[in-house]
Amino acid sequence: MISNIHTHSIYCDGRDTPEAMVQTALAKGLTALGFSGHSYAPFDPSFIGMSPQATADYRKEVLHLKEKYADQIRIYLGLEQDLFSEEDGLDWEYKIGSVHYLRHGDAYYPIDSKAHILQEMIDTWFDGHVLPMVEEYCADILYMYDTRKPDVIGHFDLYKKFNDKLHYLDENDPRYLSIVQDTLHTLVHKGALLEVNLGGMAKEYTHEPYPSAALLSFLQKEKARLIITTDCHHAPLLDYHYNETVGLLRQLGFPSMVVMGQNGFEEVPLA
Ligand SMILES: [Zn+2]
Ligand SMILES: [Zn+2]
Repeated sequence: MISNIHTHSIYCDGRDTPEAMVQTALAKGLTALGFSGHSYAPFDPSFIGMSPQATADYRKEVLHLKEKYADQIRIYLGLEQDLFSEEDGLDWEYKIGSVHYLRHGDAYYPIDSKAHILQEMIDTWFDGHVLPMVEEYCADILYMYDTRKPDVIGHFDLYKKFNDKLHYLDENDPRYLSIVQDTLHTLVHKGALLEVNLGGMAKEYTHEPYPSAALLSFLQKEKARLIITTDCHHAPLLDYHYNETVGLLRQLGFPSMVVMGQNGFEEVPLA
């Protein structure tokens, strides 16, 4: 039983129409498909967040498909809400809360657009030191969770996206682990649901999910609730590495995981 609630279509930066994605989801046997278009981000013209018009068209299309395919698959109208996008006041069936930028004053740097841009941010704002950048990101994640109250926290350690290429972060550094483990501990104890996001792997940036296996192992001890998503931008990757990741969670000792079930987010046993 596979559900995937983190997907992008042509209404933002995905490759396929929502209907093509529904067709692929049916062919792959998904029981639930959630669309999570990017929230409007006018502060970054290069980012494909949905304009107010695209948002309206997207909502209409997804709600139409929800009805059209109701007897074949459960479809959900969601949003990937960036910390710095304004609230749109619209009803969404769920929201994934993500931090894609750091902001200093009126200036923004994207975290996950290009390796050299992330490096430039670390050099310009953090004197070339990665840990203060991670600290600020973690503070933003906590602030985002408290103020936006998303249903799911998106790609927790997104800043590692280019680390396989640039090696700017030592993920075994105890100072690093202490920052991120403190943040994860706080989130879990506030009741947050975190995603295990396979998007970085699907696009061959990372060799591990967000969060990494070491952080997942920590989350297992914290009794965290996790949902697997593929942050899908291309329909054939809708179920990318999904079953392997269920296996990883089982191997790490998670007794259950969360899926989008008949009644919303539901725990399913992994034993
Ligand atoms: Zn994202
Ligand atoms: Zn996404």
